[in-house]
Amino acid sequence: MTEAIDYSTAIGMTSTIPVEIVLAAGLTPVDLNNTFVTSDESEKLLGRAETAGFAHNICAWIKGIYSAVMHHGVKRVIAVTGGDCSNTLALAEVLSRRGVEIIPFDYPLNRDRSSLMEQMEKLRGRLSATWPDIRETKKRLDGIRKKLVELDRLTFHDNVVSGFENHLFLVSSSDFNSDPDLYEKELDAFLQKARTRESKKEKVRLGYLGVPPIFTELFDCVESLGGRVVFNEIQRQFSMPYGCEDLTEQYLKYTYPYDMQGRIEDIKRAVEERRLDGLIHYTQTFCFRQIYDIILRESFSIPILTLEGDRPGPLDSRTALRIETFIDMLTSRAVFA
Ligand code: SF4
Repeated sequence: MTEAIDYSTAIGMTSTIPVEIVLAAGLTPVDLNNTFVTSDESEKLLGRAETAGFAHNICAWIKGIYSAVMHHGVKRVIAVTGGDCSNTLALAEVLSRRGVEIIPFDYPLNRDRSSLMEQMEKLRGRLSATWPDIRETKKRLDGIRKKLVELDRLTFHDNVVSGFENHLFLVSSSDFNSDPDLYEKELDAFLQKARTRESKKEKVRLGYLGVPPIFTELFDCVESLGGRVVFNEIQRQFSMPYGCEDLTEQYLKYTYPYDMQGRIEDIKRAVEERRLDGLIHYTQTFCFRQIYDIILRESFSIPILTLEGDRPGPLDSRTALRIETFIDMLTSRAVFA
């Protein structure tokens, strides 16, 4: 989808940050997770990180980000050092020793407004953006964000968008594929096409929870078995669908960096509104977020299937079988309900 990026002048991001500030500074944002996972050579990138000394039991996303930076010669990286992953702290130090300029960004765990404003102000100063330009950029991106809300509505209400299409547009909204104008053009064309489609009639409606999947084919596998993902929790969060006037408010509503309560409320709304039959909770091997599975299982009465992925690539047969069994079980429940 993206035209060639000049990585030497782009600014890498280890996770979602206020991208409005990056764009207002006239810089090109690059979500390094997407760079890694969409690479044709993602397995090679992992190998390169392991050769550089990253242990086998470090999460693949961390190793992928490291190698994406080194491979593309990214010179500046915004590292989310609070509210995402403690591994990023060490990764940032390693990158810094390799000559990469690190700009830390900390989401305050207590969701404190003034602390978040302070972080945004620091980022603004470091990138030499101005507040009037940031406000202009926010308005510009709000237009695209509204269209993503419509894409999501077409997914769960009009039922004309697949789980993968929904995932792809929403997950890319962390950096708008490094080019918001082109992204919007592609989104417009997609929405126009989707509106002409017949409604999908799946047997089972699913919510996908957790960080985006590292393996391909998950969504296609679900649809081939008569299910459809109509809620992509974290990918939707990346699109900031809240309609906030105020930039700080927008990033306070973003559920991912804070405690689980915000996520649970968001998921509960989706279960009701989108009439979900079950939830798939994706966890990443070696990730501390696996522990949240306990809280999710204690918070929801609808069935949850917990999956685990390690390295990029196609779905393994055991995971595919577990998805099939889960969808069969949900289908029988629907029949006997
Ligand atoms: S998946 Fe988990 S361990 Fe890996 S980068 Fe994300 S938060 Fe960190």
